[in-house]
Amino acid sequence: MRTYGCQMNELDSEIMVGQLEKRGLKRIDVEENADLLLFNTCSIRDLAERKVMGKLGQLGRSKKKSIIGVTGCMAMAKKETLFRKLPHVDFVLGTNNITDLNSVLDEVLETGRQIIRTDDQFEENLDYLVAKRDDPVKAYVSIIRGCDKFCTYCVVPYTRGQEVSRSPESIEEECRQLVSKGYKEITLLGQNVNSYGKDKPEWNCLFHDLLYRLDKIEGLGRVRFMTSHPVDITRELMEAIRDLPSLCEFVHFPLQAGSTRILKKMHRIYTLEQYLEKVAMLREIVPNVALGTDIIVGFPTETEEDFQETFNMFKQIEFSVAFIFAYSARKGTPAFRWKDDIPEEVKQDRLQRLLNLHNEICAKHRQDMLGAEVEVLVEKRNRDELHLKGRTRCWKNVLLPGDDSMIGTLQRVKISGYTHQTFLGDVIENPPLEKRGHEALRITC
Ligand code: SF4
Repeated sequence: MRTYGCQMNELDSEIMVGQLEKRGLKRIDVEENADLLLFNTCSIRDLAERKVMGKLGQLGRSKKKSIIGVTGCMAMAKKETLFRKLPHVDFVLGTNNITDLNSVLDEVLETGRQIIRTDDQFEENLDYLVAKRDDPVKAYVSIIRGCDKFCTYCVVPYTRGQEVSRSPESIEEECRQLVSKGYKEITLLGQNVNSYGKDKPEWNCLFHDLLYRLDKIEGLGRVRFMTSHPVDITRELMEAIRDLPSLCEFVHFPLQAGSTRILKKMHRIYTLEQYLEKVAMLREIVPNVALGTDIIVGFPTETEEDFQETFNMFKQIEFSVAFIFAYSARKGTPAFRWKDDIPEEVKQDRLQRLLNLHNEICAKHRQDMLGAEVEVLVEKRNRDELHLKGRTRCWKNVLLPGDDSMIGTLQRVKISGYTHQTFLGDVIENPPLEKRGHEALRITC
């Protein structure tokens, strides 16, 4: 199983591995020994597609004949054309058909024919509990699939379909099971988690209602969520972040561009002023919140002035986490029809200027963190074998000394130093925080 792209794909891969293990297959890492090769693909950027197409092409020339399946967003975007370009691919399974994996595999084995299943809409009949988790401390939980926003550059509404929320009962049951197995942190996943429940008004459970419900689960140390659309970030959600002990003070708040003209062209449905108002409201309600963002530079027609607005906004807001991309046209999107008129070297120059700014902001944040007391969820032993590795509530990596029994615990840590991307710290108090109840968990970072 090879997974490309976002966390939603990682979770889908865990569910598919679980389904395959149920029928007696075993996951192995050495490709040459595999009877089945499954590629869970991404088509958000051209590079992601080219990588997997190159890999699949190479497999066609190899002597070992494994069964090859392609799933994920690229499967949805390319559908039958994949068979034409890669005749050795045995099946293509869309993002809304992962429940069909075993039946498709049976059909391929019985008939020897190429099989394709790519439904446009997701049917909520997935067995989420079957997922074979890779991480013993943190887990992803899907709460909504698809997206109704139709940003002009994005393939997701076409590859994942319309928004379909999962019932709160099913989400809560999965979270309870994860906690009973020792999981401490859950990340709620969706292309736009803030839309949760809007497609099912009869449930009377919007995103913030769901968060209040999950916060009651005894032993659930942390809840995160990914990702959000600024328009749907509500005051109620901000108050939930302030009031719920389990909810981390980190919000991914994708700006995409700092110029209202470009935002309109992207169909982001907010102006820069509206975005800034929301950020100000959030910072007033949750003063210690950290913000992440996505930025696209070089969108069609982006002038130097437009880019300067993005640069200035980045500087003003001081995002602590940022995913910055040069625009790449995606087939099937409205923007694909427009001239990709920003030269590659201009895109790369703008990208680099924003990356440099981000590095400066991070350096300042690192300095500010020296001496701070933070809550760290200890996740694993670090590669250097000397330290344990964990993350703060605001998603910062921390290395600390300690033994393996601390893995999976929340610790109070004092930051004593840092390397390029990682903080160094020491545990300053025992016993671990979770033994003292939720109140003790509210430490800034
Ligand atoms: S909100 Fe996100 S997933 Fe939906 S179309 Fe826009 S960029 Fe794509």
